[in-house]
Amino acid sequence: MKIAVLGTGMVGRAIAHRLSTLGHDVVIGTRDVEQTLARTEPDWLGNEPFAQWQQTHPAVRLVSFADAGAYGEIVVNATRGAASLAAVEAAGAANLAGKVLLDAALPLDMSQGMPPLLSVVNTDSLGEQIQRAVPEARVVKSLNTMLADVMVDPAHVPGHHNVFVAGDDAEAKATVTGLLREIGWPEDAILDLGGIRGARGTEMYSALLFAVSDALGTYDFNVAIVRK
Ligand code: NAP
Repeated sequence: MKIAVLGTGMVGRAIAHRLSTLGHDVVIGTRDVEQTLARTEPDWLGNEPFAQWQQTHPAVRLVSFADAGAYGEIVVNATRGAASLAAVEAAGAANLAGKVLLDAALPLDMSQGMPPLLSVVNTDSLGEQIQRAVPEARVVKSLNTMLADVMVDPAHVPGHHNVFVAGDDAEAKATVTGLLREIGWPEDAILDLGGIRGARGTEMYSALLFAVSDALGTYDFNVAIVRK
């Protein structure tokens, strides 16, 4: 399948690489291809400049957000939460119409330092904002509750643990669930939270994620739902 990943950070790279190794035809979207390829410094999380990453991942092409929106049959949002609406709008509402838009972003507000605050909370979520911004796209919130390494390799954390999906379109959720299965998520690990409103809980969970990470000194963990 043709899959477009919006976002050149560690999440975009991890998802693009994983889907590419599974045989999908993957592009990564960015604001300005030339500028992104011209970067020579690591990004704010210490990831190598994109051009360097590209050399070891030649199958994944770098294109503009607009070209990515037009290209992908499925589109993944892996952009900075504060910029996700701009990125999705640049990908093009018309390009995204009818398509599955897997939103893995978090609306983190770093203005007060770490741990981050959320720029949207309680009565709304980034997932819902994106769905409203591109109403003809079929937004599914998923993968936003764990480190990128875990998103694309559930075995990175041993044992049973979960990934959530939330979205208004059942068929779109089935498509995302299929992709998650391909990535390696067991069927019983994928928990459907219902409509896109379920994005609120998965985004607000990030407060606990950062607290647990502080307590454990690592992001190499995930949440597991244990029930009777
Ligand atoms: P990131 O640094 O949060 O985001 C990088 C992407 O955001 C780049 O593609 C960049 O565009 C785009 N961007 C930044 N400012 C922009 C602006 N003003 N307008 C348009 N686009 C802009 O990357 P990340 O760490 O991979 O995280 C991606 C998303 O996943 C975030 O929402 C994050 O909260 C969420 N998340 C991350 C993790 C993780 O393990 N890191 C885990 C869970 C959720 P350019 O390509 O043009 O620079």
